[in-house]
Amino acid sequence: MPGFTVPTPVNEPVRTYAPGSAERASLESRVAEMSKERIDAPMIIGGDEVRSGNTFVARSPHNHDLQLADVHAADRSDVERAVAAAKAAGHDWSRWSFEERAAVFLKAADMLAGPSRDTINAATILGQSKSVQQAEIDAACELIDFLRFNVAYAEQLQELQPHSPRGMWNRMEYRPLEGFVLAITPFNFTAIAGNLPTAPAILGNTVVWKPSEKQALAAHHTMEILRAAGLPDGVINLVHGDGALAAEVATADPDFAGLHFTGSLAVMRSLWKLVGEHIDVYKSFPRIVGETGGKDFVLAHPSADVDQLVVALGRGAFEYQGQKCSAASRAYIPRSLWPRVRDGVAQVAADMKASMGDVSDLSTFMGAVIDGASFAKQREAIARARDEGREIVAGGGTDDRQGWFVDPTVIATDDPVSDTMVRELFGPLLTCHVYDDAQWDNVLDVVDSTSPYALTGAVVSQNRDAAYEAVGRLRDAAGNFYINDKPTGSVVGQQPFGGARASGTNDKAGSLLNIVRWASARSIKETFVAPTDWRYPHMG
Ligand code: NAD
Repeated sequence: MPGFTVPTPVNEPVRTYAPGSAERASLESRVAEMSKERIDAPMIIGGDEVRSGNTFVARSPHNHDLQLADVHAADRSDVERAVAAAKAAGHDWSRWSFEERAAVFLKAADMLAGPSRDTINAATILGQSKSVQQAEIDAACELIDFLRFNVAYAEQLQELQPHSPRGMWNRMEYRPLEGFVLAITPFNFTAIAGNLPTAPAILGNTVVWKPSEKQALAAHHTMEILRAAGLPDGVINLVHGDGALAAEVATADPDFAGLHFTGSLAVMRSLWKLVGEHIDVYKSFPRIVGETGGKDFVLAHPSADVDQLVVALGRGAFEYQGQKCSAASRAYIPRSLWPRVRDGVAQVAADMKASMGDVSDLSTFMGAVIDGASFAKQREAIARARDEGREIVAGGGTDDRQGWFVDPTVIATDDPVSDTMVRELFGPLLTCHVYDDAQWDNVLDVVDSTSPYALTGAVVSQNRDAAYEAVGRLRDAAGNFYINDKPTGSVVGQQPFGGARASGTNDKAGSLLNIVRWASARSIKETFVAPTDWRYPHMG
């Protein structure tokens, strides 16, 4: 039990970076500085900077010429070394007092909120092509929130103590897992990348962290900040490069105790199988926490406020180029509203396209998609939709001369199970299925049954009965459900995030439900005055 109370967390205020502000000037200068420096990004294993010499180049998605870092990728022996370092650090770290551990992460949060804020935002702007707004809500605010709130949830967990009748003291000790945790993280959120290794570490676990190759720059800086905040050597071991290799080595180890994953469904399934294959090897049953993809919906009722609906669709679908797991990618629009919605969303998409470009210009709204593979996927999906005779309501263009740019694109379809209504594309593509107003009842079933995923969804309706009908009928269709809002933008401590069905284990990142997965509880009963006679009274 902690002897102290951790500071009550509040969500980090989002800076606006308005033109002429000091915060904008400061960030602009850091972006300019980082654009010029091509850094060497080693792995960090047992506190050592490890350079394999086998490097890949981190580039800006919006500028092919901008080479940001040479990143040292792990070979098998590096991953083995990281596993060994995590195991070696486990004993001491797990015996640090809770408040000492908590202080490391609270300090990291304050560094991110203050002196390191520009660095983590600039790395995310340049490395992942986020606009300043998207970088700020992710790399700064959400990561800060994860750290502060998770410390508070870890404290809450320890306060969950059993009843003690007279004569004894029953206690619950929330031990870390016995072994190490493997964290494999996605490209699209610097906050998620930082959260997956730190959440288990707050509970006293040690971690091997393999970030996405496409987020390597911000991951490098996150690790630097954690070290500067006092994270001891070996508690989090950063290895870059091939996820399959890291997983193969880590999951074969008898001390593998947990997986903290966020990424695509196919990789999650392959990881679960890998763990299953080694189940006879492990000392404990590993915890598997994995959040995967989505095919997130906006369902409009005929009573919807069209202006609100258009903003929910535009922001929900196109912010960060549609590369949020929660991004709206399928919409269901009643025929009576379609002409106005069509015009409105086409206008929004056109305006957003006009503000697409190099996000190091902080007035830009949209950047590029993450890489050539994603670019090709979006382009092919648009071409296929055209071939199938779908109407391209807005956008549809792509341009890879300078960066991986895909227009915010709106497609209309009569077929609710056409390709772009069903497949997760992870780009700025929104497909609208126009339904007859009288088919509301039927469309609820269509929304529910269209996708294997169940991550986020929204209903837009001025009619309360209809909204609540959707809440009930779509109960299993989304782990995060919104009424009269876009399906993106969850905030730590406000809308705990995670999906069901094929979207993952739904352990709600940034909540007590997630934190509890990284503890192995031990019940301790201490009897104060123990009996001295083995006989019971009924024996006479
Ligand atoms: P991804 O699955 O391609 O990669 C995620 C991580 O897995 C990376 O670190 C990658 O190197 C690693 N990896 C790739 N192949 C692997 C393998 N065979 N074995 C082990 N590791 C491997 O995903 P991404 O492109 O980085 O992220 C986008 C995906 O993540 C989308 O599907 C999105 O919906 C999902 N996502 C979900 C959430 C959520 O909370 N549900 C949040 C963010 C992203």
